[in-house]
Amino acid sequence: MAKDANQSDEGIRWALVVDLDRCTGCQACVVACHAENNLQIVGEKEAAYGRWTHWIIIHRYWEGEYPNVKARFMPIMCQQCSEAPCEPVCPVFATYHNEEGLNAQIYNRCIGTRFCGSACPYKARVYNWFRPEFPEPLTEQLNPDVSVRTRGIMEKCTFCIQRIRRVEIDAQAEGRSPTDGEIQPACVQTCPTSALIFGDLNDPNSHVSQLAHSRRSFRLLPELGTDPGVIYLKGGEVNV
Ligand code: SF4
Repeated sequence: MAKDANQSDEGIRWALVVDLDRCTGCQACVVACHAENNLQIVGEKEAAYGRWTHWIIIHRYWEGEYPNVKARFMPIMCQQCSEAPCEPVCPVFATYHNEEGLNAQIYNRCIGTRFCGSACPYKARVYNWFRPEFPEPLTEQLNPDVSVRTRGIMEKCTFCIQRIRRVEIDAQAEGRSPTDGEIQPACVQTCPTSALIFGDLNDPNSHVSQLAHSRRSFRLLPELGTDPGVIYLKGGEVNV
C-alpha cells in the first residue's frame, strides 16, 4: 500500500487506534495502566478536587434522544501529537519528541511548572500533588521497569515506553524488527473487547495503519493542527 498523509518516511511512528464501537467503558485499561505504570491512588476526597492521577480517562456521553439514547464511552489519554503544544512551553526540556513519534517525558528533569498541562488541549497530563504512598503489600506490585514519581512532577501516558523498549531490545538481539502486534501497552493487552490497537502508523501494512484509513477514523480537535498519534474510530456504524 502506498504511503499517504497519515504516514511519513521518517521511520517508526507509534500510534494507538481506539474503536469507540467496541469500548464498553469497563475501565480495565485504566486499572491496567495504574498497575503497569506505578500510578498512585489519591482517594475520593482529593479526586473530588481533580487531583486524580489516571493516565487514561473514560469520558461518557449520550447519543440520541430519549427514549432512543445510547451511552457511549471515549478513552482519552496523551494523544502523542507530532506538533505537541506541551513541548515548546517546557522551560527545562523535560518533555520532548523522540525519534519514534512519542511525546516523551523526563521525570527527573521536571520542575513542576505545569505549563505543559496548561498547553495540552486534551488535558491528558496529570500533576503529582502528593508524595506517593504504597502501603504494604502494594509495594510488591510496583513495576521495577518504571520509576515511582515523586511530588511536584507532571506525568502522563507514554504508550508504555518500557514495554516498547523491551520488545525492541529483544528483537534487536534476535537480529530482526518487532512484528506488528508484538508490542502491547498494558491497556491494549488488557482491553476485553480489543477496542485498543497499537502499532506503527508509518508501516502501510500494520493493523493501525489500515484502520487509520477507515472511513470511521477521526482525530480529536483536528482544527488545532496537533496531528495526534491516537486515532479514534467512530461508533454506531457497521461498515469499515
Ligand atoms: S478496557 Fe477497553 S472496553 Fe474497557 S474502557 Fe478501556 S478501552 Fe473501553
